[in-house]
Parts: sequence; structure tokens; C-alpha cells
Amino acid sequence: MATIIRGGRLLEARARRAEPADLLITGDTITEIGAPGMPAPSDATVLDARGKLLHPGLINAHTHAHGNLAKGMGDRWTLELLLTAGPWISGGRTLEDKHLSAKIGAVEMVMKGCTASYDLPLEFPAPSAEGLQAVGSAYAAVGMRAVIAPMVADRTFFEAIPGLMDVLTPALQQDVDKLRLAPWKTSVDNMGRALREWKLDRDQVRLGVAPTIPHHCSDDLIRACVALSSEHGVGLHTHVAESKVQAIVGLQRYGKTLTAHLEDLGVLGPRFTVAHGVWLDDDDMRRLGDRGASVAHNPGSNMRLGNGFADMRAMLDRRVNVGLGTDGANCSDNLNLYESMRLASFVSKAQRPDLERWVTTDQVVLAATEGSARALGFEGAIGRLAPGYKADIVFLDLGHPNWIPLNDPTNQLVHTEDGGAVAHVMIGGRMVVQDRRLTTVDVAALAREAEAARERLARLNAPGRELYERLATVVGRFCPGLAHVPYHVARYVGGA
Ligand SMILES: [Zn+2]
Repeated sequence: MATIIRGGRLLEARARRAEPADLLITGDTITEIGAPGMPAPSDATVLDARGKLLHPGLINAHTHAHGNLAKGMGDRWTLELLLTAGPWISGGRTLEDKHLSAKIGAVEMVMKGCTASYDLPLEFPAPSAEGLQAVGSAYAAVGMRAVIAPMVADRTFFEAIPGLMDVLTPALQQDVDKLRLAPWKTSVDNMGRALREWKLDRDQVRLGVAPTIPHHCSDDLIRACVALSSEHGVGLHTHVAESKVQAIVGLQRYGKTLTAHLEDLGVLGPRFTVAHGVWLDDDDMRRLGDRGASVAHNPGSNMRLGNGFADMRAMLDRRVNVGLGTDGANCSDNLNLYESMRLASFVSKAQRPDLERWVTTDQVVLAATEGSARALGFEGAIGRLAPGYKADIVFLDLGHPNWIPLNDPTNQLVHTEDGGAVAHVMIGGRMVVQDRRLTTVDVAALAREAEAARERLARLNAPGRELYERLATVVGRFCPGLAHVPYHVARYVGGA
């Protein structure tokens, strides 16, 4: 039951040190950390970590299981075009496809040093208990932790953007009508059933609730999500002010920012995570910080979709908890938290010349570990290597060129490491990656399954692709037009 890890160098991100230390693990938990050679139970398994840097498993604060089968399908698309592409790139999925898509992502993440993820899967026209179980069981099969928060809405993208329906031809209006989502009560009932009947170990895989984008949800749906979250004690997660179009539409619809609207509906609190927050203003950040809420910062996705740079430094200054994410493989496109850390650091530095306002590498490491852990509702259990915490540990090979030579482990983890040095990954005391190979899932078999699904879905979704191409010419003109309105003018016109 006990394992002693001997000879590794333990990262202390704040102190920028990595001194040799031994770790005793009992069951799934770190029970003691001590000097090299510290005593251990005689029956403890000894794990040799000489030449390895040990850091807490990275935690992905925002991704989408359904995105993995849609990896690489687009190049020049905005968030609005990505939403338009949804029925094409994520349509027609069976329960097996939902499981498979989640598994591809989980495999990629663990192999790149990530041990837990906040995942927002999509099901059309409403989430189902079976679909959520299919996603959750994929994480369990890989041996990774996750919070699975189904994306729900009761307005389509076309209903959510004022004026967009009016610029579609009557034929396109009819096609778009067929994309209508389930009534909000159906989604809420299905999520309630999933929460009551959840079969997986909640320490490993648990549920959350994700009213996906504020203006895609009626106030009734959002209030019902808040009620579910407090009844079951689970997280709430919403894309807020991700694109400028969203920020402007929020002002048009509600006469206030999306964050102010969510505050009115009782959403803001310690269980709430904003995804992105690129277009949050000072007041919004203050509201989030004062209520103990989190932001999942996804710098890669924000650049990829042309949404801009979120201001991590300003968020930290307003006491917002910041976690780090990759977003889905359909918009970022890898699920590599090392890259997210690097981009979070670079984006902060690219935003302004005042270097005292730049985030530091230790702040970035803390966001990708403790910050994300808090967003997932796993605070105090994961995100640190300390007694009482779960044994979720990444072993980096210090013989890899990324670490030759080792000068400052915190700077190098953020700015140099790219996942190439990941040798082993332990989750809950179990080796999920050993010597760069996954121990839980046959990756070659997964690739064969994925290829078969890809071919079948490409045939099935050919009409969806054709519809996307007809819609894209309209959406691709209309939405950037909205985004060209200066934000301060939209605020004035919106009355905020
Ligand atoms: Zn997202």
C-alpha cells in the first residue's frame, strides 16, 4: 500500500528551488516528505526518481471532450464561426463516439503532464445522463481526474445574436430552425438525473453544470443551473466575455455587462468559473474577485480565435482566482498545459511595456496547479506536493535538453518545458504514464477506433458541412461587423 519515491528533486515554484527530497505515499495520498534517505515502512515499494524533477500534476481548467474528434478541422475561424460549425464538426455522435472523443483528450493530457481537467462536453439537443457517464468513464479508464460539466443552452447561436436571423435568407432560416435546442426543463431534468445517478468515484470524476454562454441561456435556465449547483454542491462554469461580439451582445441584450447580468441571477460565488474573460472590465473583475470566483485563462485559444488577450495580472490584482486551460482541441488545438503556461507568461508580457505589471513564472505555475485545483473544486486535495494531498505527480527527465543545464526550475518549467521531458505521471499513487508510455489504455487501438469514427462522422456530417459553408459567408461578415463597434461606444449605447 505504501510507496517511497527516492532521489527526486522536488519543485518549489515560489522559492525557485528543486532540492532532493523523498516522498512517502500511502494509498492515493502523500503522507510524508522528508530528507533523502528518510525512513519508510519495510514493505514500501521503492521508486527510484534520481535524475527526475517532481512537480504537481498540471490541471486543465477548461477543455471540451467533444473537441478531440474535431482536432485540426478549421484554420481561420472566429469563435462565432466555430459555433456555427458545431453541428458539422460535433454532430451525429453516438455514445461510443462521446466516450472515444473524451478518451483521446485524456490520453493526450496525461502524456503531457496533466492529471485533472474541467471538461465541458456538448450533446445535442440536450445533455443526457448516459452521455455524461460515457465521457466520465473515459477519464476513469485513462486514470485521470475530471469535472464533467455539460454545456447547456436553450437558444441557438442564431437566436442569441440580435439581428443575425434577419440577415439569413428564408432558406437558411429554415435550416437553422432545425438546430433548435431542447426546452430548458429537459436539460435541467437530465442533469438532475445524472447528478443523482452518478456511478463514478467523485474523488476522481465528478459532475458540474455549465450554462454555456449567458445570452444563449434564458434567465430561467441560468437560475435552474444555480439551483442544481447549490443542491448538489457542484461547480458552475460559463464562457463569459470570450469574444468582443459576446461582450457587445451582452450590452445590447441586458444593458449591462454579462458579468453584471450573471451577478443579478445569483451565479457569482466560490463555485463559479468564468471561461476566458478576455473582455471583462475592471468592475467585472472586482465582482468576481469579491465573490471568490475563478477565471479559466486560455491564452492559446484566445489568440487562435482572434479574441484577444485576457489580462491575468489585472485579475490577480482584483483577487480573482486564476486557473489555466487549453480549451478544446477544435480551437487551440493541442491540450498541452506546458504550452498554456508559456503563452500565459508571454501574453502578459506582450500586453504592455510596464514590466512590473507582467505576471511572473511562479504566478503562472500556481495558476496551472493550485489555481486550477480551486476552480475544479478540488482545492486542498490536488495542485500541490505536500502531506495530505493526492499523489498526482509528474516526473520530468532532467537529462532532457529542456533541462540542460538546470538554472531556475520555475522559469524553465514555464518557458522551456514543452512536455518533451515527461517521463512518468502518477495519479492517486498509480503510475498512469511510465517511461513515456501509457499503462492504462492501448493508444494504437484508440487510433484505429478514432480513424473509423472519423470516416463515419465525415460521411454522416457532410450535409452539416455544406450548411456551415453557406452560413459561414453570412456569419463571417455579420459578426466581425459587430466586433468593429468600439467597445466604449457599445457600452454607451447599451446604457452600461
Ligand atoms: Zn470553451
